[in-house]
Amino acid sequence: MQNIWRQQFPLINQSTDLVYFDSAATTQKPQIVLETLQHFYQAQNVNVHRGSYPLAVSTTTEFESARKTMAKFINAPDERCIVFTKGTTDAINLVATCLARQSSINGKNIVVTELEHHANFVPWQQLAKQHQCELRVTPLNDVGVLDLSGLQQIIDHNTLIVAMGHVSNALGNINPVKKVIAEAKNVGALSLVDGAQAVGHFRVDVTELDCDFYTFSAHKMFGPTGIGVLYGKFHLLESLPPYQLGGEMIEHVSLEDTSFELPPLKFEAGTPNIEGVLGMAKAAQWLSHELTDSFQQYEQHLYHYLLDKFSVIEGIKVWGDLHSSVPILSFSIKDVSAQDVALILGEQGIAVRVGHHCAMPLMQRLGISGTIRVSLAIYNTIQEIDQLILALQSAIQLLK
Ligand code: PLP
Repeated sequence: MQNIWRQQFPLINQSTDLVYFDSAATTQKPQIVLETLQHFYQAQNVNVHRGSYPLAVSTTTEFESARKTMAKFINAPDERCIVFTKGTTDAINLVATCLARQSSINGKNIVVTELEHHANFVPWQQLAKQHQCELRVTPLNDVGVLDLSGLQQIIDHNTLIVAMGHVSNALGNINPVKKVIAEAKNVGALSLVDGAQAVGHFRVDVTELDCDFYTFSAHKMFGPTGIGVLYGKFHLLESLPPYQLGGEMIEHVSLEDTSFELPPLKFEAGTPNIEGVLGMAKAAQWLSHELTDSFQQYEQHLYHYLLDKFSVIEGIKVWGDLHSSVPILSFSIKDVSAQDVALILGEQGIAVRVGHHCAMPLMQRLGISGTIRVSLAIYNTIQEIDQLILALQSAIQLLK
């Protein structure tokens, strides 16, 4: 299969000595996104929601139209449901903080999974500690796949929220979030899906999922860093108190009191990351156009090619759900230090990630300190995988 995407990514396309297999950490950016960022500072650099001169008006219009683009990207009912945040971490912290400010949550339970990135685990764990809530953790089986057999006992009428990742950053598993959202809904609990690793690989439809909140970061879907989205059902966003206080989110201030804007501006205090928003919207448009069957077939082709190659290397154990996965492959090698392997690969220009991948509870469950993670994206090639396999085989020989 031919790669028709690679040439759009300058950093990847122009490097002769970089094999980039760390796209789950951050994806590379296509030329069209880079141009949007540069264009902002060269031709549009004003603040939004303030000035009445033409450049301020046109930039504000483009900024707000980016909100519509992001709503369309995840099939949200309308742009009022799209809050711009710094990214997934910021979005989850926003929901956790505001839920506790909204009303007393003492005595409730909060449901997460053992597979979560720390960004979707620690805010809930600490919230539970601060408010005497019970943190309930949906378990995993021995290779890191969610065991939902006890879900109906875990989620009950006292559940405040169920928070889970759409795709595991550490293993690549695509989780059955729709089923879990439906269970949460059955008992009147809220649901939040961490979509950081999903949106760059397949189309997400929040209306179809019927989740209450959905979060993601632009830098994992070919957009810029420091910007992301919190999607929330409008009536829920409306019922939450503000997160941070300051300019932009104000309706009226007097010496005595302040009234706030409606969502989403209520949650966007201060000057926003304007170029980030424009760059993210461009990435979403680019991805919406590119994310066809052939995009997904190509990714799966790379993933299965890599899996096949791994199956003949002695001592490799691949973790996670190999049947329902984005092209992220996490593995250990018997009696060989993952750190040493990653160092040797790094010296040859092959960028993989090694460690706990911000998912320490998962690693504890698997009984390991970390894995080597190869995370592929649309710009990778079969030749690069062949290069990895050769380098890996000689590293193993050297280290054994
Ligand atoms: N959730 C998942 C599944 C992730 O992979 C990441 C980042 O690796 C995050 C949350 C945090 O994203 P960010 O650092 O962009 O806030």
